[in-house]
Amino acid sequence: MNSNPFPSFDNSYARLPERFYTRQLPVPVPTPGLIRVNHSLAGYLGFSPGWLESGKGLEFIAGNYIPEGAEPVAAVYAGHQFGGWNPQLGDGRAILLGEVIAGDGVRHDIQLKGSGRTLYSRGGDGRAPLGPVLREYIVSEAMAVLGVPTTRSLAAATTGEHVIREGRLPGAVLTRVAQSHIRIGTFEFFASRQDQEALRILADHVIQRHYPEAAQADNPLRAMLDGVVARQANLVAQWQLLGFIHGVMNTDNMLLSGETIDYGPCAFMDEYDPDTVFSSIDRGGRYAYRNQPQIAHWNLARLVQALLPMLDEEEEKALASGQAIIDAFPELVQAAYRAGIFRKLGLSGDDTEDSALSQEFLNLMQQEKTDFTLGFRRLSDLVNPNTAFGGGVGSLFEFTEAYTPWLERWRDNLASKPVEASTRQAEMYLANPVFIPRNHLVEEAIEAAETRQDFKPFHELVGILAQPFEFKNALARYATPPRPEQVVRQTFCGT
Ligand code: AMP
Ligand code: MG
Repeated sequence: MNSNPFPSFDNSYARLPERFYTRQLPVPVPTPGLIRVNHSLAGYLGFSPGWLESGKGLEFIAGNYIPEGAEPVAAVYAGHQFGGWNPQLGDGRAILLGEVIAGDGVRHDIQLKGSGRTLYSRGGDGRAPLGPVLREYIVSEAMAVLGVPTTRSLAAATTGEHVIREGRLPGAVLTRVAQSHIRIGTFEFFASRQDQEALRILADHVIQRHYPEAAQADNPLRAMLDGVVARQANLVAQWQLLGFIHGVMNTDNMLLSGETIDYGPCAFMDEYDPDTVFSSIDRGGRYAYRNQPQIAHWNLARLVQALLPMLDEEEEKALASGQAIIDAFPELVQAAYRAGIFRKLGLSGDDTEDSALSQEFLNLMQQEKTDFTLGFRRLSDLVNPNTAFGGGVGSLFEFTEAYTPWLERWRDNLASKPVEASTRQAEMYLANPVFIPRNHLVEEAIEAAETRQDFKPFHELVGILAQPFEFKNALARYATPPRPEQVVRQTFCGT
């Protein structure tokens, strides 16, 4: 029996060969201050939330106290950043404390982000400003509730130190939870060194940990890669369906587990425009909303390339096999996206008109500069004639006249299907959240915390985003698009 207020650690990554990481303790911080503990995630992982909020727990989430069983390491990786090869990256401001196994048997990394310098920090200070920590907490937890595979946020604490960026900013540490932190860039690191042994060990580790069913296949590596491609396709489709723009889809920011990672410059679009880019450093728009599927495809090709020699002894066969794995992606992402967009529109998906209706709705949204989230949400109100008027988000958004012919065709299409309006509406509400982490709300929460040490807006926002599908008039402010002066046009990596 484990009577500790934290779960037992079982550090499989730290059992891998020494060249996968360096052993490194977090650098202690002077005066930790508790920001928030994620109670439900804590419970799931086997942490006592009360303990995490206690003095000792706070020392733990700040990196000042290493619990028994943790074996802190900084992992090494490489990666393609904005298309360019970077042979040497790694946890430069994060420490993997160790792994814990949740009640359902799923292994999770417990990582501190902002925990001080490591061998991989290059010129950086290894610390994180408060703003990006709050942003990651808010957005990652919102994504989780929206059903998107993602790293999670277990806790956040201030450090009592300042970090120097464009000015002096308060420092903070985030406790990040992931099924693992193994990236495409981790494979690329060993491939670039032609370290076949390490690639084999890493692939076996990933199979055991994330794709156990692949171990039974004729070619486990190929089965693993098929699995990675499928999960990534599903992931990017979900981003598209929510209007989520990751912003920094480098190969070191794509996990083999298929979870979203790195909430640096990410943002949700307000007005629908597929060319939207937020990241201040993405000058060419490489990671614009519309490019996300093809960038994921490109990244997966880097993964397959890294493992190509292991796919088959004969080069020709390895190439053909690798190509087949990669070629599956566009159709998978398209299928997941189409299924999702039909669900969002209440369409059955088996009608020849469904695709045209979907595309035309998106065209209208772009033309009319419709808010992506409210457009879909308003349709979910209108789908049920009993609630169409006076209810839902009608006071926040109404379709312009340009939509009238489309709405008629959509209603006719739905009327020809034997589905109860109330059933259809319930399904649409679940596909179309009303509360998303809008940029201006995230910025507002960060600003209050940064400049006035007022964390109330942050806590309120986190609370509201925990129930994203249920509209309440009293919370209308959180569902409302930004006024012109509130629009956030650029986001920053925050490193
Ligand atoms: P990112 O842009 O967040 O994906 O980070 C890219 C690389 O920069 C990774 O190797 C990080 O560990 C490193 N890095 C980012 N911020 C810092 C920092 N403040 N100190 C040290 N290394 C950092
Ligand atoms: Mg990163």
